[in-house]
Amino acid sequence: APAVDEALLAGLNPQQREAVLHRGKALLIVAGAGSGKTSVLTRRIASLLQTREAWPSQILAITFTNKAANEMRERVEQLVGGAAEGMWISTFHSACVRILRRQAEAMGLKTAFTIYDSADSRALLKRIIKELEVDTLGLTVPSVAGKISKLKNELSDVDSYARSVNADDPADAAFLEVFRRYTESLRRANALDFDDLIAETVHLFRAFPEVAALYQRRFRHILVDEYQDTNHAQYALIRELTRPVEPQHVPADTRMRLDANGGIPGASLTVVGDSDQSIYAFRGADIRNIVEFERDYPEARVILLEQNYRSTQNILDAANSVIASNFDRQEKNLFTTAGAGDKITGFTGYSAYDEAQFVADEIQKLREAGAAYSDMAVFFRVNSQTRALEDILIRSAIPYRIAGGTKFYERAEIKDAMAYLVQVANPADDLALRRIMNTPKRGIGPATEAALQAHADRLGVPLRETLRDADQLGLGPKVTKAIIDLGTTLDEVEAMVPTAPPADVLTELIVRTGYVDALRATRDPQDEVRAENVEELLSFTKEFARRNPEGRLIDFLTEVALVAAADEIDDASGSVTLMTLHTAKGLEYDTVFLTGIEEDLLPHRMSAGEPGGIAEERRLFYVGITRAKKRLFLSLAMTRAQFGDTAVAMPSRFLQDVPGHLIEWRQSPGQANSRGGTRSRALNAPTRQRFSYSTSLPPAPNREKREWTSAVTGAVRDNGDLTLAPGDRIRHTDFGEGRVVDVTGTAPKAVAEVQFDTAGRKRLLIKIAPIEKL
Ligand code: ATP
Ligand code: MG
Repeated sequence: APAVDEALLAGLNPQQREAVLHRGKALLIVAGAGSGKTSVLTRRIASLLQTREAWPSQILAITFTNKAANEMRERVEQLVGGAAEGMWISTFHSACVRILRRQAEAMGLKTAFTIYDSADSRALLKRIIKELEVDTLGLTVPSVAGKISKLKNELSDVDSYARSVNADDPADAAFLEVFRRYTESLRRANALDFDDLIAETVHLFRAFPEVAALYQRRFRHILVDEYQDTNHAQYALIRELTRPVEPQHVPADTRMRLDANGGIPGASLTVVGDSDQSIYAFRGADIRNIVEFERDYPEARVILLEQNYRSTQNILDAANSVIASNFDRQEKNLFTTAGAGDKITGFTGYSAYDEAQFVADEIQKLREAGAAYSDMAVFFRVNSQTRALEDILIRSAIPYRIAGGTKFYERAEIKDAMAYLVQVANPADDLALRRIMNTPKRGIGPATEAALQAHADRLGVPLRETLRDADQLGLGPKVTKAIIDLGTTLDEVEAMVPTAPPADVLTELIVRTGYVDALRATRDPQDEVRAENVEELLSFTKEFARRNPEGRLIDFLTEVALVAAADEIDDASGSVTLMTLHTAKGLEYDTVFLTGIEEDLLPHRMSAGEPGGIAEERRLFYVGITRAKKRLFLSLAMTRAQFGDTAVAMPSRFLQDVPGHLIEWRQSPGQANSRGGTRSRALNAPTRQRFSYSTSLPPAPNREKREWTSAVTGAVRDNGDLTLAPGDRIRHTDFGEGRVVDVTGTAPKAVAEVQFDTAGRKRLLIKIAPIEKL
C-alpha cells in the first residue's frame, strides 16, 4: 500500500479507507446515499498527490456540477496543503469544452466556437421546421429537440442515423432533413450544442488517435462521481480516455513506464455511484454503465460502503423502505450510528398555499430555535410549485433563493448583450447576428434581413460578411449606412477581443451601438430596469476578471454557457434554498422539506406512462429523502392548481412505502383523500379535524397574517355547506367575479366549474375555494 499520511485517512471506516488506498486499474465504489462516496473520491485524489504518485496535471476528476467541482478542488487543496495547479476537476461538459477549444481545428471548428444552450437550439430548430414546412407532419420543436439530443447522447450523427432510418416514412424523412439542416447550420455558425460537447469530443478521439493519445498520456488517474447518471456518450468518453497508448503514439523521450508492447498502460479509473440515485434517464443516463462496469473493466475492484454518515436512523429507515419497493435492484444495508432522531413530520394542506404556509411556519419555528436559514432546503418536483412557496415566504419575510431561478441570462436584454458578445467572438454565428441586427432599432426590417441572407447564401458566407457589401444590394441609402455602420462597429470591436478583458469588450459594444442609451431614451419604466440589467452583466464581467485575471471573452462566454441550476446555490447566503429534486442530488441539509408528495407530481404524470418511469420517480423521492441530515418534512396538498386548473390532489403512492411509525402527521391526508380500501400504513394515522385547519395550526403570530392567509390564499377557508348551482354568480378572491357553469360530485368534494368574467374557466373545490356567492 502507498505510504499515505495517516492524517489524510483520519476518521474513515475500513471500507472507505480501502477505497482511498486501493491501487489498480479500475475501482468501482457502489454505495447508498450519504455513505461517503464523494468524500472518499476527494481523499483519494488527495492521497495520490500527497504520495506523489501523481502530479496534479495527471488527474481528471468529473463531478456533476461546477459547484461540486469547486468544492472538491478546495477540499483537496486543504487536505494536501496548497494549490494543486493543473488538476482538472470539472463537469463532463467543462472538460470537453477545454479539450475542444484546444483541438478545434482538427474538427474543422474555430477555437471560439459558440455553445448553444437549449433555447438557442430551439430557436434554430424553429426556423428550420418553418423553412421546411414540416410542422404539418407532427414535427414540433420539443419533439425534434428531444430526439436529436437522444441521438447525440447515443453518438449517432446525421449520417449514421440516415442509414438506419426508413426513408419512405414521410415523418422520418422530414425529421432526417431537419436534423441534417440543424447539423449544417451549427457547423456553418461555428457552434456546438450541449450534447455535441461530449459527442464531438468522442468523435475527435476516435478520428484522431494521436489527439486521443495526448490526453491518454496526460490523465493517469480518472475519477468520476455520480457515475450512475452518465449517458452513453459520457461512458464512451471515459472508455477512450482510459485506453492504453499505442506504441506509435509514445514519444521517444517518454519517462513513463511502458507495457510489454512498448505502449503506455491505460489510466486508472475510479467511479463511484449509486444506481438507486439514477434520476436522469430522460436525458439518456444509462444505469447499465454502473451495472456493467465489472464486465467492461474485468480487472475492477468493487468496494461497498454501508455506513451512512449523513442522516438519522428514522430518515434512513424511511429511505431504505421507499427504495426497497423498486425491484431489479441490488439490496443494500445502509446503517447509521447517529441514533433514531426526530420522527418525520407529515402535513397535508388544503391547498398549495396552505402547504406553503406550513413550510414557512416550520422554518420560522426552527429559526427561533436557533437553526440557520441556510441549513434548510425546500424541494419540489416541478417549477410551478414555487409560486405558492415564494408568495408565502415573501409574506413571511423568510429570505430564500431558488437554485436556477434567477433566469438572469434568459432576459431579452441580457440575451441581446450576450448576442453582441458572441458575434464579436464568433463572427460566423448567424443566430447571434440576427438577434442584434435591428436591436436597437436601425431600420433593418425583415425584407432587408432577407436580402442580406440571400446574398450570404449566394456567396456561401456568414451573414456577418454581407454587412460590408450592403451598398451592392440596392437598398435605400439610410438602411445601407446603418448596416455598414453596424458592420464596422462589430469589426472594430472584434479586433479588441484577443487582448481586451471581457468588460472592455462589452462596454465598447453597448456604448458604440447605443444599446443602453436606446433603452434609457424610452419612457417605458421597464426599459430602465433593462438598462440596469445590462449594467449588472457588465459588473459580472468585471467580477469574472477579478477571478480570472487572464480570462478572455471566450472564457467568460464558456462560463456563462455552462452555468447550471446547482451552481447558483450559495451556502453562505443566509437564505433558505428552494430547488427541484433533480438539482438536489449530492447535496445535504440539516432540514429538508419535501413538498407536493402527490400523485401526478411525484410520481409526475408525464412519467407514469413511460417504461420504468415510476421506478425513476421513486428514486427521485429517495434522493430527496436522503438529503436530510436531521429533520425531514413530507407535505402535500388536497387541491393543487396546475395548468390553470384547480384539481383535487391525491397523496402519492410513495407515501405508502414510508412505514407509518416513522411519520408523525401534523395533519394527515385523512379519509377525504384516501383511495377506498388501499390506505397505506402512513396514511392510517388518525384522521383529525379534516376541515378545520385553524385548530390544528400553531397560533398565528399576528392577526394581519391570519387575515391575509384567508383572503389571498383561501387556505384556512371552509365554506361549510355552501351549495352552488349552474347560473349562480360568485366572487373569487383571486379571479374576481364569474358564473357557475357546472357542479359535479357531492359535498365535501363537490367541484364547481366557473366561467370567470376575466380569468377564464376554472374548476374549484367548493368546500375550500376562496369564493362567496353573490
Ligand atoms: P450521495 O450519495 O448523496 O452523493 P455520498 O455517498 O457522496 O452521498 P458524502 O456526501 O461523501 O456521501 O458524505 C455524506 C456525509 O457524511 C458528508 O457530510 C460527509 O462529510 C460525511 N462523512 C462521510 N464519511 C465520513 C466518515 N468516515 N466520518 C464522518 N463523516 C463522514
Ligand atoms: Mg456524493
